[in-house]
Amino acid sequence: MERIAGRMLGLGTETAFEVLARAKKLEATGRDIVHLEIGEPDFDTPSNIVEAACKALRDGYTHYGPSSGLPPARQAIAEYFSRDRGVQVGPENVVITPGAKPILFYSILALVNPGDEVIYPDPGFPIYQSVISFFGAKPVPLPLKEERDFCFDLADLEARITPKTRMIIFNSPHNPCGSMLSKDDLRGIAELAEKHDLWVLADEIYSKSTYEDPFESITQFPGMLDRTVVVDGFSKTYAMTGWRMGFGIVPKDAEPHFSRLMVNSNSCTSSFSQIAGIEALNGPQDEVKAMVAEFRRRRDFIVDGLNAIDGVSCRKPKGAFYVFPNVKALGMKSQELQDHLLENAGVASLAGTSFGPEGEGYLRFSYANSLANIEKALERIAESLQEVRR
Ligand code: PLP
Repeated sequence: MERIAGRMLGLGTETAFEVLARAKKLEATGRDIVHLEIGEPDFDTPSNIVEAACKALRDGYTHYGPSSGLPPARQAIAEYFSRDRGVQVGPENVVITPGAKPILFYSILALVNPGDEVIYPDPGFPIYQSVISFFGAKPVPLPLKEERDFCFDLADLEARITPKTRMIIFNSPHNPCGSMLSKDDLRGIAELAEKHDLWVLADEIYSKSTYEDPFESITQFPGMLDRTVVVDGFSKTYAMTGWRMGFGIVPKDAEPHFSRLMVNSNSCTSSFSQIAGIEALNGPQDEVKAMVAEFRRRRDFIVDGLNAIDGVSCRKPKGAFYVFPNVKALGMKSQELQDHLLENAGVASLAGTSFGPEGEGYLRFSYANSLANIEKALERIAESLQEVRR
């Protein structure tokens, strides 16, 4: 008898955590590693949020709460979302989860049947493909091409829609490419979703990390709140990755099902984290602005630095905190290059293929690290690639 259930074969992973573990092992042997593999702000959580959590602990927010979230936290998120996206939602549309990831999991579980088709971006956040396959649905990749600035063609999207298509997933600003969909693209997706009666999963976790164009949500188009699950959270915007605070904005009739999935898996999200989340949304936003300004400086620095290296070319991303340089001219597979940079240059990055087959020929660097470390990484990369080219 197999000791492990067969379904586990269908579950993928997020390579960033594996590379992080490898990099930590090297560090334990005394190597100096620059971490550009993990998508985590290097800033500390703003102190007003930390204080709110400490007070909440002292005030006794140490118990179970309702599975969809504490009423004042759901209210604060509904108000935030309504004013930020300019569409009216209520607390009954909000499901608070430990990080944003559970919303991805629950959306497929609650809204997609085995055998249904789900269209998702390639390259894209690896958890999409992983959970679609895990629950017996068919993942249908939608290629994002560099020539199109890592956005997709609406005709390509439409060509992938069949009678079995149930859901479209997209992520803007995008991990790993840093691209953003235009308002016209979003309108086009909304029209296709209406025409073919599809669910939309809009991963808006990077909505606050934008550098030029304003963020646009698909929920602004008529009828879309009824067929969209928005994924958002506190991890990236407020440097709260370890707190595990995320949320979904879901149609009213879907909420009880997300809530039941919460009861069955997590019971509820940490109560004092939710109280701190209210402070994050309603308190001063200066530190968020400062973080975004700093990310922008780092983006410009790393893009220029990468473009100065022979054989590497890098577009300027519009959002999130990743660059996705083209390394095809170096003549190595992305995975080999990722390993080479880790082992020889002490720079942890991710192969583009960690995000799907379309990522071959690219690397992803997270610039959620200090300018000094990014500079060190660039110097090391340039030097070690000289050896590769020799
Ligand atoms: N969606 C995307 C595109 C992400 O990049 C991430 C984190 O890396 C998440 C969702 C998950 O966020 P959280 O850490 O809040 O679960």
